[in-house]
Amino acid sequence: MEHNPIIRNGWIEVITGCVFSGKSDEGSKRITKECYAKGRNVLILTPNTGRRKITICHSGEEVDTKDQFVSRAGKSHPAFEIPHDNPEKVFELLKEGTTTVVFEEAQFFNKTLIDVCHCLATKYKLRVIVIGLDKDLFNRGFGSMPELMIAAESVKKELATCLHCGSQNANSSWLPPKYWKELKEGNILPGDAFEPACRSCYSDLKEEHGLPQL
Ligand SMILES: [Zn+2]
Repeated sequence: MEHNPIIRNGWIEVITGCVFSGKSDEGSKRITKECYAKGRNVLILTPNTGRRKITICHSGEEVDTKDQFVSRAGKSHPAFEIPHDNPEKVFELLKEGTTTVVFEEAQFFNKTLIDVCHCLATKYKLRVIVIGLDKDLFNRGFGSMPELMIAAESVKKELATCLHCGSQNANSSWLPPKYWKELKEGNILPGDAFEPACRSCYSDLKEEHGLPQL
């Protein structure tokens, strides 16, 4: 089911996939349509742990995601950074007239995000757009994303181009071993550290290198 641009009764829609799959570009498209629509007002939230530098595709420019939602296609929208362990903060930021709430990098929020999204859609009757990685490095469900995919009225899963073989069905995020130590130490990794990998390449890479012990 394609998303309906005017949601009357509140609902949840999820845009998901691996790294570099175009989730934020799809989210940006939906946000832009909302901005053009009369009477629609969008509130965008990002977790404080999701801040990173994004390289814009056509210009190569690096853009910081602090207080803005940025897609690799180069579109940006104002956003609020809120604590990853307190997604309830959204209720303080809602305004009279807010019709749409977007959570970017949603996999980093703690699991109270599930109840928050239900409340926004059911009680406040808002359109809730959740954008995030469905799987972590180990191919396990990431944060609240699996449950939000179940809760959602609409789910769009994007695929990326596999960095290893060039096929366009990459569905996993691989982290090269050179970054494992930094990951273990909890350091922020470069935005392009994770690589999109298809099923077959992910399996080969895992067999060759194993996975980090965290
Ligand atoms: Zn591949």
